[in-house]
Amino acid sequence: MSDDCIFCKIVAAEIPSHQFYQDELVTAFQDISEQAPVHILIVPNQHFNDVGEMGDAQAEILGRIMQVASQLAVQQGAASEGWRLVTNVGRNGGQEVFHTHFHLLGGRPLGPLLTR
Ligand code: 5GP
Ligand code: ZN
Repeated sequence: MSDDCIFCKIVAAEIPSHQFYQDELVTAFQDISEQAPVHILIVPNQHFNDVGEMGDAQAEILGRIMQVASQLAVQQGAASEGWRLVTNVGRNGGQEVFHTHFHLLGGRPLGPLLTR
């Protein structure tokens, strides 16, 4: 738990969220400013600033995030048309919240990966 981290507080339910999934390793909740019909954030319960801080010791957590993304895409009806999983790291990545998170996006055509 990092004291000033909004996602640590969401994991601990100290800040409310629309939660889709939680287990001993990861939590999935609705993005507050959704950019697609399906926009769910999947985070490790433990605080890491970004995915670059996660290594071999976190392989199980990272694997679980991938599995949960896949399962939620099915549950949310996004699997047949397809979806995207994105993690932003640092300034060039456009990261705004410094607790590792993956954006699960779907429910509409998502366009090219990058805009120029
Ligand atoms: P980043 O730009 O760091 O990859 O994405 C941060 C995401 O967190 C943004 O999509 C933003 O809408 C979302 N977000 C920021 N604050 C909150 C919050 O308090 N609750 C929820 N559910 N999402 C948040
Ligand atoms: Zn945190």
